[in-house]
Amino acid sequence: MNQNSVEVRTQSRVLFVDMDSYFARCEQQANYWLRHRPVGVCVYTGKYGCVISLSKEAKAKGLKAGMRLNDAMAVCPDLVPVESNPTRYREYHTKIINVLLQYSKDVVAKSIDEAIINLNNYNHLDPVAVAKKIKRDILEKVGDWLTCSVGIAPNAFLAKLGSVRGKKLDGLMLITPQNIDEILAPLKWAICPVLAPI
Ligand SMILES: [Mg+2]
Repeated sequence: MNQNSVEVRTQSRVLFVDMDSYFARCEQQANYWLRHRPVGVCVYTGKYGCVISLSKEAKAKGLKAGMRLNDAMAVCPDLVPVESNPTRYREYHTKIINVLLQYSKDVVAKSIDEAIINLNNYNHLDPVAVAKKIKRDILEKVGDWLTCSVGIAPNAFLAKLGSVRGKKLDGLMLITPQNIDEILAPLKWAICPVLAPI
C-alpha cells in the first residue's frame, strides 16, 4: 500500500492488527505453566533489567512496561521474569503474517506485533467479517493464547487508533465517517498535547 497516497477514501477497508501483550503472550503460548500468571519479559533478568512486555495478569497488578525488574518485583512479588526470546517472536510473527496474507496480498508488517491489511482492492470482502475471521484464525492456526485487537478505518492511521481503542471493546473497533467525531473528541488533547488549552 502506498501510505503517502493523498487519495481520499471514506470506506472503512483498512485493517490494523495489533497483537495483545505480544512477547508475554508468546511466552505463555510456548510455556503452558506461564498461563494465568503475571509474566514480565526482560532482555536481561538481572535486578536492574527492564521489563519490556507484561502479561495481562501482570498489568492487572499495576505493572507498566519499562519498569526495572526490582521495582516490578516490589509491586508484584509473584511476577515471573522471563528472558526474551526474539527467535520465538519472529516465528510467531511469520505465522501471523501468513494468516493475514490469506485475506489480502496487500499486507504490510509495521512491527513485530502489528500489521496493516488493505482490503481496498477486495471489494467482495466484508472488512468486519474479515477482522473477526483473522482473530479466530490466529487463535486456531497460530496459538490459542495469541489474541489481538483489530481497528478498521478508511486509512492506516485511523485503523491503528481503532486497534488501540478496540483493546477495551472485545478487540474490534470500526471507525467510519459517521462515528469519527465521537471517537476523536475525547482524544484530541491526548494525541496533541501542545494544542491543549493553557
Ligand atoms: Mg501490541
